[in-house]
Amino acid sequence: MNRALGIILDGKGFTTGDAILELSYLIAALLFVFGLKLLSHPESARRGNLWAAAGMGLAMVTTLLLHKTSEGTGIPLTNVWIILAAIGLGSVIGWIMAKRVKMTAMPQLVSFFNATGGAASALVGLLEYPNAVAGNISSIMVTVLGLVIGAIAFSGSMIAYGKLEGKVGDIMKPFMTYINLALLILTVALGAYIIFSPNLPSQMTWAIYTLLALSLIYGVLFVMPIGGADMPVVISLLNSLTGIAASMAGFIYNNQAMILGGILVGAAGMILTLLMCRAMNRSLLNVIIGSFGVGANVAGGDQGVIKEITLSDAAILLSYSQKVVFIPGYGLAVAQAQHIAHELDELLENKGVEIKYAIHPVAGRMPGHMNVLLAEADVPYEKLIEMDDINPGMPDVDVAVVVGANDVVNPAAYDDPGSPIYGMPIIDAHMAKNVIIMKRGMGKGYAGIENALFFNDKTRMLFGDAKSSIQKLVAEIKTL
Ligand code: NAP
Repeated sequence: MNRALGIILDGKGFTTGDAILELSYLIAALLFVFGLKLLSHPESARRGNLWAAAGMGLAMVTTLLLHKTSEGTGIPLTNVWIILAAIGLGSVIGWIMAKRVKMTAMPQLVSFFNATGGAASALVGLLEYPNAVAGNISSIMVTVLGLVIGAIAFSGSMIAYGKLEGKVGDIMKPFMTYINLALLILTVALGAYIIFSPNLPSQMTWAIYTLLALSLIYGVLFVMPIGGADMPVVISLLNSLTGIAASMAGFIYNNQAMILGGILVGAAGMILTLLMCRAMNRSLLNVIIGSFGVGANVAGGDQGVIKEITLSDAAILLSYSQKVVFIPGYGLAVAQAQHIAHELDELLENKGVEIKYAIHPVAGRMPGHMNVLLAEADVPYEKLIEMDDINPGMPDVDVAVVVGANDVVNPAAYDDPGSPIYGMPIIDAHMAKNVIIMKRGMGKGYAGIENALFFNDKTRMLFGDAKSSIQKLVAEIKTL
């Protein structure tokens, strides 16, 4: 609307085309928000994606048809063809990649797509810098910010992609923190110099290319030391940066759809980042500097006695229960036990047992990991209950079946102030009348700490790979 107002105030006239263009951006923005709302539930998420894509499609079509260049003419036809060719090529590549990707490789794909978004914003900044008005601080600032943030998001996301693909290793050297800090200060200082310099952009070419190089290096070095399992948080952070960079590009072109779309991505990415950090009971700084579990107060020694349960006892206990809650965790993903878990759940349900799945926000190793796995196994959505909703009912549950989860059911989060997970919300498995824990041995979870639940009087361990344990359990229940 700024542009519309500007045109009216300039007295240059506001054509019907301009009005349609501005209106289409407003509709696109509404579609983004509506799509985002639908994305918040697995059942409506697919529709949400389509609505948001329709908004983006609308903004693209109206821009191509109605956008006016600074000379007041439409986009030259040659450029339209080049843009259409690029859109076509990008769509085909994106389609093929998205069709082929395995569910477990989703974070890599997100990271790769995110890198392209960052690169696009950085290129806009680089190409538009010479057109920025010398002395106009806000015009130069959005250009420089778009370039820096976009470049960091690009190189950081490519490193994240490489790490998740197992092609790039971790560098955990403590001095990396100081190098990164120095690099960040240098980047900010050079960016500020460019923004406030009275020189013409043509005199600052060396500075803008140096800034681009510094930002790219910073992106690489910032992600390199972060531990592999913290990658989902970093990817979400980088995603947020790409959104912010895109909104800067939107300011450069005074394009409302780009500004709003970018802000929505930036805000959503930041909220997800902070929610993940909160669910892991860690600060963002702690994730970035990466010291989780190191020197943690690892409770060991005399914890109590471990009690095992036989398959036939487990089969009888589950078959004669009224309420059973499955608590899946990272081990379920490793064992790929989701399909057989669903078979067990249906088998028990046919015997009149009420089955629910308790979903912890950071169970597994990526946001929504358990939802994705269980959806893949066709477990109905209504059986997946969020942590906050299931916890109040846990004392009424006859058996909590913990399938390859550890940290997300560790009561140290409530009662051990020295524990690295103290304060992290958990699923209250310990409140159930009985607890069966399926895991291979006494291996620790991601936080690297002991779990008192394993030694609880109510708990019995069913050792073995989760998939084969459940397979045997299903066979045993069928013989009852
Ligand atoms: P967890 O604490 O990492 O524990 C997983 C357990 O699974 C291990 O103790 C392991 O014990 C067992 N396991 C491994 N392979 C198995 C198999 N084949 N069959 C049966 N059990 C197996 O997992 P969680 O409870 O899901 O907690 C997730 C952790 O990851 C949290 O600390 C969270 O903060 C962190 N994290 C999550 C995300 C996210 O976005 N979801 C991102 C980063 C970090 P054995 O070796 O004895 O079998």
